Amino acid sequence: MIVESWNPYRSDDLVATAPAASRDDVTRAAQAARTAQAEWMSIGPTARGAALRRIGDRLEQEAGALAGLMVREVAKPVAEAKGEMARAIGIVHYAAQQVLDPYGETYPNDAEGYLLTQRRPRGLAGLITPWNFPIAIPLWKAAPALATGNGVLLKPSPEALGCATELVRILAAELPEGLVALLPGGAETGSAVVSAADAVSFTGSCAVGRTVISAAAGRGVPVQAEMGGMNPAIVLADADIERAAADLAYAVTGYGGQKCTATRRVLCERAVYDDVVAALRERLAGAVAGDPADPATVVPPLINAAATERARAVVDEAVAAGATPVYRGEGGVALLTGVPARAVLAREELFGPVVQVAAVDSLDEAVATANDTEYGLTAGVYGRAVDACLRVAERLDAGMIKINAPTTGVGLHTPFGGSKASSYGPREQGKTARDLYTQIHTITLGTP
Ligand code: NAD
Repeated sequence: MIVESWNPYRSDDLVATAPAASRDDVTRAAQAARTAQAEWMSIGPTARGAALRRIGDRLEQEAGALAGLMVREVAKPVAEAKGEMARAIGIVHYAAQQVLDPYGETYPNDAEGYLLTQRRPRGLAGLITPWNFPIAIPLWKAAPALATGNGVLLKPSPEALGCATELVRILAAELPEGLVALLPGGAETGSAVVSAADAVSFTGSCAVGRTVISAAAGRGVPVQAEMGGMNPAIVLADADIERAAADLAYAVTGYGGQKCTATRRVLCERAVYDDVVAALRERLAGAVAGDPADPATVVPPLINAAATERARAVVDEAVAAGATPVYRGEGGVALLTGVPARAVLAREELFGPVVQVAAVDSLDEAVATANDTEYGLTAGVYGRAVDACLRVAERLDAGMIKINAPTTGVGLHTPFGGSKASSYGPREQGKTARDLYTQIHTITLGTP
């Protein structure tokens, strides 16, 4: 099988191509990475941190070109592509200093001697990644995996092959040969990576995530999966409506809604429902659609024709089921109200610039409706009274809750992950990332 990635904006532009890695290729790459991993551990934490810092410097030098490649390969609007590069550099620099963090604890011991713990690398981290953050997601897995002493097998999305190839080239330039392996391919290669790894980190859809979780658990290796969301934002009656509408419009339409953290549902206290719908409608109508290389563009074409067709079909189905299309605009941007519970749009994540808005009559109803989904990635609350916002926030069943801030985006040094079907296993990012990539060993030291 040949993997190809195509420019979503210029359909005749083939961006990258490579043969898919077979099961044997994955086995060979894993053997080489195991040998390199022993060397990587032997050089010590200071040298590992220095290598990571040099990777950050290389990313900085090539940031413009890599942002341009993201624009071309996954149609990421240029401002967001530059933002992703800044984040990628931040991720690597953060990981570079983590190599010197304490990696164990001491415990009181009733007998003479000591009780110690020590974190050790798992060995090989198998990383399976989506296309929508083609540099940052592979890196926010690879950087902590490397910082804690592991080798890496990366199976990127076929749609982001070019970005992954460039990223692995930059990593490889500063790391022992074979420590990071690029394994292009689809489901079969992904499944081979799960079979070869000592820890698995997956980001993508819920359906694929569940397959990966079962396969890893079946082998008895730890697994983390970050999946979809049906992220709600609640607008309380005292909120600054214009401010909230500006945030919401961006969280709905930014990168065409192709973010796991995009706002999918807005729940308004009835007193402000009409004002929120009007303000949001106006903002959505201002979201520029088109060429991702144009700095004004917010809504680029979706990743491929199938995604575009699904987005259109799901909105049509909701309207046929009785929803009101308050706004449908360029690039598939849509605002719907009265979406019936039986509509696909009410239940399933739609990876596009589409939002549904509903009124609620109490805070209890707002919380119950927000939580009435199998997902729980992010959730937002808008309001001026901070105590009311906090009371709502602490009842929302989402991994990441934002008060007066868009559901999208979270600091690279904070734990990242969701509740319910959105996530599985330990959190990514920050200090918690090492919970997947290391194992704790307890050592009892008696008197000789
Ligand atoms: P996807 O699930 O189709 O693919 C993800 C990865 O899994 C790709 O590399 C794919 O080739 C691979 N894969 C497919 N079948 C496999 C199998 N059987 N075994 C192993 N690997 C397999 O997702 P996508 O379309 O690339 O990305 C969009 C999805 O990702 C959305 O649902 C979005 O919400 C989610 N996402 C979640 C987060 C998060 O952090 N929660 C972040 C970004 C994207």
